[in-house]
Amino acid sequence: MPEGDTIFRAAAALHRALAGRVVTGFDTALAPLARVHDDSPITGRTVDRCESVGKHLLITFSGDLVLRTHMRMSGSWHLYRPGERWQRRPNAMRVRLDTDTWVAVAFDVPVAEFLTTRDLGRSRALNTLGPDLLSPAFNRDEALARMAGAGARSIAEVLLDQRVIAGIGNVFKSEVLFLCGIHPDRLASMLAPADFARVVDVAVPLMRANTGAAASSGIVTYRGLRRTTRQASGEETLWVYGRVGKPCRKCGTPIASAKRGIDARSTYWCPACQPLP
Ligand SMILES: [Zn+2]
Repeated sequence: MPEGDTIFRAAAALHRALAGRVVTGFDTALAPLARVHDDSPITGRTVDRCESVGKHLLITFSGDLVLRTHMRMSGSWHLYRPGERWQRRPNAMRVRLDTDTWVAVAFDVPVAEFLTTRDLGRSRALNTLGPDLLSPAFNRDEALARMAGAGARSIAEVLLDQRVIAGIGNVFKSEVLFLCGIHPDRLASMLAPADFARVVDVAVPLMRANTGAAASSGIVTYRGLRRTTRQASGEETLWVYGRVGKPCRKCGTPIASAKRGIDARSTYWCPACQPLP
């Protein structure tokens, strides 16, 4: 599942390719989008900017129109040169934006809607989002307050709740808790303010490093792979995620894993480095 860093990178790539360009063609497999296009065509508008808000990707066009997409489990945006062969089947195309130099294609996005700026201000999906870890305006105090108020839920579940903090997905959840030495099953209501501060202060630089914005920290994305360790090798890019039964990189204890929560998302941890009190 794409996490905040992936969406941030996708938005940055789309922005570099499309911003300031005129849309020369538009196609969609989604009827509600097609209806908007019929009434007030997307073709001929200029792309003003592309940005991420949590895991939402917003493309703003001239004439007060914003395309909001959310990838959920399966969606992705691709950029192609005109005429270049797509890496996905054409019937997976949901939205296609043509400019003279690039073609942006959204494949299998389950959520896509056109909004005006006014709609955007009222959008429940966006208004309920917690502070965005990747935003330059990230509000740390607000994030800490929301975590402290998250109640008797496991910290693993709280980190995935985009209303508490926006941007963390399943991989970063396990990696951040490992780096903080916090067992994923510990209840947020039983954690101390210092624990939340540690989680946020580990998560922010880690996620920013994976957007390519903080390569000087020594943690950089390597051929598009997500990295939380400082190893360049593809085998050693993550501390615990996906490593069930393998020795902990710090202490050698076999990494544990369990599926929990409504989506049965896998959580990984080291039983020795992340003890239950
Ligand atoms: Zn360990």
